[in-house]
Amino acid sequence: LASRIPSDSKPTIRELISFLESIPASPASSREEIRAEVRRLAEVFSRLRLLAKIRLKKITDARSARERALAYLKLFVGEVVDGRELQVVSAIQEFARRLRELRVEFGYNIITGNTNPDLRPDQYILLDINPSDEIATRWRIANKIRRSKVAGKNRLLMLLKERVGKPVTGDELAYVSKTVKDWPRRTRELRTQHGWRLVTRQTGRKDLPNGVYLLESLQQLPEHDRKIESDVYDSVLERDQYECRKCGWKVDDYHPNARRQFLEVHHIEHHVTGGKNNKDNLLTLCNVHHDEAHAKKLVGSEFLKWVKEV
Ligand SMILES: [Zn+2]
Ligand SMILES: [Zn+2]
Repeated sequence: LASRIPSDSKPTIRELISFLESIPASPASSREEIRAEVRRLAEVFSRLRLLAKIRLKKITDARSARERALAYLKLFVGEVVDGRELQVVSAIQEFARRLRELRVEFGYNIITGNTNPDLRPDQYILLDINPSDEIATRWRIANKIRRSKVAGKNRLLMLLKERVGKPVTGDELAYVSKTVKDWPRRTRELRTQHGWRLVTRQTGRKDLPNGVYLLESLQQLPEHDRKIESDVYDSVLERDQYECRKCGWKVDDYHPNARRQFLEVHHIEHHVTGGKNNKDNLLTLCNVHHDEAHAKKLVGSEFLKWVKEV
């Protein structure tokens, strides 16, 4: 019986099958049996890995784990590839780090399920067979920020500021924040607690793809408009149908050089004088009318009257 495969031989499928069949039907119970079974299974694992290497020779031959993963992804550009597949091809457990190198150092556009809601966390897509200088540069900057000695939230802000007016992917934010779960909350807090003009598809910028963030300005919102709960903020925009209540400007009308750049939420009764951060006391304005409302120092019913004037 093939109770033990000579470990210097090249594994074959037949050999592995008969080896698996030699495992007793009843589960191990004694210490000796458990040990024997674990050793058998460990043997199967390593032989399977070797078998994969032999059978995938064309891809796996004499290259680094990173190059093997890349060669495999290049066979399936634009298609979803499971992490398990990349584990087999790269023959290492820690292939995720290699994929990051492919993005950061070489500029390959690989998206992952960590930050893309359409994918599972262990899924990957290579979007373009060729690397891009622009992506490599972007990742180099992200890498510098990631290694800088400032707090996590500030690293997120550094990246967004670096790319002001341009989309930043969740992948990049997750990367600089060095967290898997916390970065979306921290990113939102930059908007809701610190008044940075940070927008997404959900806040009305329908031109942005899912999972992408954009800092619209290097200027923070005035102090009084901060600390509005993000749920409330979003519900105000939604109620106002993502339009300025004064002029009807919406993000679809956006032009890079126009004065109107974004929508904001404004307090009817000012927060400093006791106005609440609730939906009834808040209203959507374009940035031009927001500035105007503040310049004219319009409050309460006077403000509401001005909003309705054509
Ligand atoms: Zn307006
Ligand atoms: Zn305001």
